[in-house]
Amino acid sequence: MQSQKKHPQLFSFEFYPPKTEEGAVNLQQVHSKLAELNPDFFSVTFGAGGSTRDKTFDTVIDIQAKGIAAAPHLSCVASTKDNIRTILKNYQDNGIAKIVALRGDLPSGMLSAGEFRYANELVEFIRQETGDYFQIHVAAYPEVHPQSVNATDDFKNFKRKVDAGANAVITQYFYNAEAYFYFVDNCEKNGITIPIVPGIMPITQYAQLFRFSEMCGADIPRWMRKRLESFGDDRESVQAFGLDVVSHLCQRLLDGGAPGLHFYTMNQAAPTLAILENLKF
Ligand code: FAD
Repeated sequence: MQSQKKHPQLFSFEFYPPKTEEGAVNLQQVHSKLAELNPDFFSVTFGAGGSTRDKTFDTVIDIQAKGIAAAPHLSCVASTKDNIRTILKNYQDNGIAKIVALRGDLPSGMLSAGEFRYANELVEFIRQETGDYFQIHVAAYPEVHPQSVNATDDFKNFKRKVDAGANAVITQYFYNAEAYFYFVDNCEKNGITIPIVPGIMPITQYAQLFRFSEMCGADIPRWMRKRLESFGDDRESVQAFGLDVVSHLCQRLLDGGAPGLHFYTMNQAAPTLAILENLKF
């Protein structure tokens, strides 16, 4: 039996489905360490184009069976309505009631032959097919989605997902708290009242973070970049600095009214646990 939650905020941890036997063993250990904190749910990513489809399903079922809710990510790009209908039915049949609904990004060189263009169409389809059964989370980009035409249109497109029936939002990670607060204010001005949970990326390595951030449009502020660069191969200093910066960011977000935190764990427990310890969770 899980202990009662000691804190009022929503918080959740994201995993990717393990690709190897060793990765699976690691994930079991990471899961059991993080489960002790009794999060609201664990989410599991999904490779666009279906590349990790079965692995996402297996991981989600395994997590749910251990007692804490699991939320599969579901991306619609390159999918047909029949594919998605089957996936939804499998989740429903297995008691999975939360979903993170996404468009996804096609692997380079892959052409979309799908029936969905954007995530709002997926949210609409899930509601049409399954009514209110699923609690649907969608993605948001306080620093603006990298492919968007402009920030105003990006916000309008984000609102389409909310209007289509999303229940909650998880943001792309960011290190500028103001971008989040501005986004939340804009939501309030536009009558969006569902929780906007900040996505948090712990910092453990510079090169990988830099690469990811370039791809997904997350800004690493100059002062952080300069510091991280100056540590070179000194991983301990990178991690100590990262822990300090991200703990302060989380505290600031919670103090400023964020309804909780969603951690991109990268299938590691220690960096997330260290931040939560600093936050006295
Ligand atoms: P959308 O909301 O569809 O937006 C994509 C782009 O299209 C934006 O630029 C938007 O402005 C524009 N747009 C949206 N709707 C319309 C419309 N109706 N008309 C015109 N333009 C429109 N990717 C994965 O492959 N697997 C995962 O598991 C995964 N998990 C993620 C979890 C989180 C919390 C986040 C923030 C991202 C995740 N991603 C994942 C990445 C995500 O798939 C990409 O960022 C993708 O490029 C956009 O997905 P979306 O659901 O936000 O798309």
